[in-house]
Amino acid sequence: MESKRKIIITIDGWSSCGKSTLAKQLAKELDYVYIDSGAMYRAITLYFLRNHIDWTKPKIVASTLQDIKLEFIYNPKSKQSEIHLNGENVEYLIRDLIIAEKVSEVAAIKAVREFAVAQQQKMGKNKGIVMDGRDIGTVVFPKASLKIFMVADNAIRVERRFKELYEKNPNITLNEVKNNLEMRDYIDSHRENSPLRKAEDAIELDNTHLGMKEQLEMAVGWAKERIGEKK
Ligand code: C5P
Repeated sequence: MESKRKIIITIDGWSSCGKSTLAKQLAKELDYVYIDSGAMYRAITLYFLRNHIDWTKPKIVASTLQDIKLEFIYNPKSKQSEIHLNGENVEYLIRDLIIAEKVSEVAAIKAVREFAVAQQQKMGKNKGIVMDGRDIGTVVFPKASLKIFMVADNAIRVERRFKELYEKNPNITLNEVKNNLEMRDYIDSHRENSPLRKAEDAIELDNTHLGMKEQLEMAVGWAKERIGEKK
């Protein structure tokens, strides 16, 4: 295993396209580390909200970021690495719609991006990593060996996210989820700093009509080609 060439794999795309599902499975298949970069922006948003930080003020943002420590720690129970904010496991809290409603605003702030990107780049130092997000193939790892850009029909994306959130909160409506996805996609793709876009050398993966098994097989195939295990 150790002798295998390790590469960096980036998975970017619109909200709720199944990026993290594919990234997790791909990392497991290759025995790579999986990093959910969105969790970092969500955890920063949680900290800002909890501490009533006025994120429209650059000086306040800069000094607040110094108080934030983010770590991914493996949880043997869930069998995945989970994000910790200043020592507290916030993996589940950050999935709330309250966070989703503010995260794109926070993630558009230059200082916030610089803070997160520097840590993401460190995590990729030894390669052997699958990272998903919005700017991973364009900004964080522009030289990654394999870049995947995921897309899916809007209605499918809304339905998938609704199912996921409804399990935790049966009061949630389809419309709330739809509005949140549209708002995040708009802000994420129109912001000045590192907007969401497909890297020129990324492979587009439309999973509207693909099952999880099929998309994983495709991604594993592309990865093995790059790693050099397949012609
Ligand atoms: O991937 P997830 O939906 O958890 O990401 C939450 C939000 O974090 C996105 O809507 C986007 O605003 C931001 N994000 C980002 N860059 C990344 C990952 C996420 O701006 N690399």
